[in-house]
Amino acid sequence: MLPLLLLQLREGRASAGRAVGVSLDEAKGGVRLSRVRPDLPAARAGLQVGDLILEVDGHGLALISDYDRVAERFTPHHEATFKIRRGEQNLMLRVSPGMPYDWGAWLLGAVTVLCYLALAWLSIAQRTEDVRARLLFFLTWAVAIELALPTGLMVGDVELQRASQVVFYLVTGLQFGLELHLVSLLPAPRGWVRRWRWLIPTFYAIGGGLGVLCCGEYLARELGAGDALPWRWLPAEFLLNDVMLPVWALAVVGLLVIPAWSYPEVRGRHQASLMLLGSLPWVALVLYLTATGLLDIPTPAWVENLWSPVLLLFPFAVFVAIFRYHLFDIGFVVRRGLIYTTLTTSLLLVFYAALGGGGVLLSGLFGSSSSVWVVAFATLVLGLLFAPLRRLLQEVIDRRFFPERQALRQQLTVLASGLAAQGKLPAMVSFLITRLGEIFHAESVTILVADPKTRVLVAVASSSPAFQQELERSLLLAPDDPGLEMARRARRPVPADQVGARSPLLGHRLRSLGVAVVVPLLHHDELIGALLMGPKRGDTGFTSEELELLDLFSHHVAMVFENARLFTSATYEAMTGLYRREVILEQLQREVERARRYGRPLAIAMVDLDHFKSINDRHGHLAGDTVLVRVAQVLTGAIRFSDAIGRYGGEEFLLLLPETELGGAIAVAEKVRRQVEGLRVTVGAGTNIELTLSLGVAALDPAMARQEDPATALIAVADANLLRAKSLGRNRVEPPGRQP
Ligand code: GH3
Ligand code: MG
Ligand code: MG
Repeated sequence: MLPLLLLQLREGRASAGRAVGVSLDEAKGGVRLSRVRPDLPAARAGLQVGDLILEVDGHGLALISDYDRVAERFTPHHEATFKIRRGEQNLMLRVSPGMPYDWGAWLLGAVTVLCYLALAWLSIAQRTEDVRARLLFFLTWAVAIELALPTGLMVGDVELQRASQVVFYLVTGLQFGLELHLVSLLPAPRGWVRRWRWLIPTFYAIGGGLGVLCCGEYLARELGAGDALPWRWLPAEFLLNDVMLPVWALAVVGLLVIPAWSYPEVRGRHQASLMLLGSLPWVALVLYLTATGLLDIPTPAWVENLWSPVLLLFPFAVFVAIFRYHLFDIGFVVRRGLIYTTLTTSLLLVFYAALGGGGVLLSGLFGSSSSVWVVAFATLVLGLLFAPLRRLLQEVIDRRFFPERQALRQQLTVLASGLAAQGKLPAMVSFLITRLGEIFHAESVTILVADPKTRVLVAVASSSPAFQQELERSLLLAPDDPGLEMARRARRPVPADQVGARSPLLGHRLRSLGVAVVVPLLHHDELIGALLMGPKRGDTGFTSEELELLDLFSHHVAMVFENARLFTSATYEAMTGLYRREVILEQLQREVERARRYGRPLAIAMVDLDHFKSINDRHGHLAGDTVLVRVAQVLTGAIRFSDAIGRYGGEEFLLLLPETELGGAIAVAEKVRRQVEGLRVTVGAGTNIELTLSLGVAALDPAMARQEDPATALIAVADANLLRAKSLGRNRVEPPGRQP
């Protein structure tokens, strides 16, 4: 970009040296002066608006490009002869070209370009997967390129002028697509973006198409084939400048007014309003210039200088709108970026000074031939020292300027080393939620772990009150949930509202758990779990450095979890895929608690396979395992989604039936019994195993509910009934008898 800006400066100064201070129109018989700027060479020589230039230095003029070609040969303060027609008379006027270069305008433009580049850098430095950040990145680049292009009335080099004009058209067309695309996605992708998928490509097609059309038209005119163009009555240049530009401005307003007015979330409305405010000056300028252009009203010269500040306002507003509302801390990024850049540069300078000074000194001491070797050796040593020195200095700076970061890192390191020492997954999980909550001052921490086989994510522990009050009893999430998929692809902590925007169901649950940030836990790109961080106490929000550390830490947690998970699934039992004993018992505990508090019915059934030992004995243990897996499948198929099954013992299962009375539970048990009775499990080469099972059913009754441990009492009743089913001949369901 810097070479482009310097080129712009060089060409601008050269063309100022040749300029006479006029604007031209093509007219019949020559080139007409549409504007003569006061106090500049043309005005001083007596040229007036409306004069028709017939010849310059003896070259006849038909097109503006003819004038450009003659003007290229002007040199400052060497008079050129203009043959003009004014009314009925022909005049010969001598013009001395050359006007002062507008340094101020160039500087303002250069500053604007640099600001755009800074915005581009900031939007990509966030490493987000956010499409909007990427669109902003491309848009800011496109505008920066456009602003740095050496275009103008007269560029010294014709080829350069053509090339930059072509780039200008293409970049402008691209901006049209990029900007409308970006605005359609703010504050969040609007419904119609998804409904009319062709619309966004259409924006690009219109912008790009017009850009290409303008290029073709311009080049054809430049190469003298303008007359051959089929669409002379409607020039593409006109479409681009006088139609697309105002349409673009109005579309931006239209696309922003609606969400600013009616977006369901307050923050979304604020975002859209902010951007609307940021784009209004640009829209006003565009509409004003289009209108004055179409109506042939002269515009004051200073209006041209408004472009730079006005152009800056819009991306700045977008930038703030994207990041201010999404956990972005510009101050921190800039502060750290500046400090580290200064540090590295000064270190480099010191090294260069050492090398330079040392070289001079050594060549005096050793003579030039051996000093080459000494300098080479010194370079090597310094080169090797550079990285460790820089790291050391960085640490010093971290300690000096970012003590909170240093402290946080220290705490996380301690936590990381303590984590693996916890051994089993459940212990790790509860250790994590307590410590993470303390370290980050988070109101709640929830941990989800994916089952290795089904990849379903389950909330295994949480310090959230909602979780403890059983409002969100079981957070079971499908692995292909769009919100989770987004977090997985982001590979970094993502604000909960962004996740919720993708998946309303998940969004609802995240809100009820009070989650602020979702931290994906990844192992080889697979989502093996997630940390759900609640809001910080005092509602300060997570800073980006905290998120960065959380991100680093999450990789460590994922690795430790993965190792632990290889040995034990937190939730599901490996062979049958049913809940593990502890899990189903815990669920039973919660269900009993809930049923007791709200006076709801609850039933369970204890299931035991009949004469299973003999199946093992006759067909072998592997066949026995197959039978268990098949029975587990039958059980899973027989119950409702809101029910649950766990593997209670070797060949014993526990059915948990919330909101079910005793009669209903007996019916379910009877259905299971019949289905298993009819089951033929094929093992080996065509051996069909028949089997039966016995079930003991029990329902929570008020007397039981008043006991200290109703869950255990309930299981005891079910067990007793199962025993009775066995003694009464097996392959049967026993309803509860008398109360114990
Ligand atoms: P009953 O009808 O009285 O229940 O007779 P049973 O043979 O089924 O007796 P019991 O319920 O005591 O049987 C337990 C047997 O189940 C012991 C063991 O051989 C078998 N078993 C337990 N877990 C597994 C397992 O994971 N795989 C296999 N293949 N067999 C198992
Ligand atoms: Mg048994
Ligand atoms: Mg048995």
